[in-house]
Amino acid sequence: MTEDVVRYRRQGRVAIVTMNRPEFRNAQNSAMTYALDAAFRRAADDDEVRAVVLAGAGPHFSAGHDIGTPGRDIDQSFPRVASLWWDHVGKEGADSRFARESEVYVGMCRRWRELPKPTIAMVQGACVAGGLMLAWVCDLIVASEDAFFADPVLDMGIPGVEYFAHPWAMGTRQAKEFLFLGERIGAARALEWGMVNRVVAREELETETLGMAERIAAKPRLGLALTKKAINQAEDLMGLRSGIDAAFGLHHVAHAHNAETSTDSLAGQTARSMRDRYGER
Ligand code: ZN
Repeated sequence: MTEDVVRYRRQGRVAIVTMNRPEFRNAQNSAMTYALDAAFRRAADDDEVRAVVLAGAGPHFSAGHDIGTPGRDIDQSFPRVASLWWDHVGKEGADSRFARESEVYVGMCRRWRELPKPTIAMVQGACVAGGLMLAWVCDLIVASEDAFFADPVLDMGIPGVEYFAHPWAMGTRQAKEFLFLGERIGAARALEWGMVNRVVAREELETETLGMAERIAAKPRLGLALTKKAINQAEDLMGLRSGIDAAFGLHHVAHAHNAETSTDSLAGQTARSMRDRYGER
């Protein structure tokens, strides 16, 4: 049942990893998280692969974390790979939430960001909340003109998604606008804010992205890996890593506050209520 939640194919020196739950706008459950991890590992291990494209099947890249599809699997255990922290299943309250989100969100995103080959997110349609995290961990982002980006989790009382790269993915003032309003920004605005590399017509998205990936893939493998690492290190020196850790603590204050004062750690918000608030497309 879960084997096709992520598809993997190789085209020359480029691996194409595709999230494949289009009926749920590629909402990311843990089955998808671990399937993505397996796909990225496969791309890392294959010496013929020099660049990786991350795509979403259907009209949307990703609507974010799965908070309400029939395949939601937050109460299931998976073999953990991001750290040796204990499993969240069977734990209560923050003990469970912190363990789970450290593993499947922050830990996995960091792990994928460190894949030693260039990665390009190919984004169309929705790239919302948890979907942003998947695009941001890629080295480059190519968006189609219909792409839109939003992090509306402030409506749950939460200061942004777990992998809190907002101030580095855009500017600090833009990050405040993005989070305070929670509104969608279009591809053109995302380009203006420096959050994406290129914006192309929807029908040219795949050709443009794969073309770019192929040109990158022609470069020396180790040279690419070292260049990527040098820039990732620079980004960490600019505070990305410690900033995410600091924000993650605040994120869990918010979850705990919600759990204490509301019906659940999401302040009673559901996929439906969030969609009603921001409109379906
Ligand atoms: Zn969370």
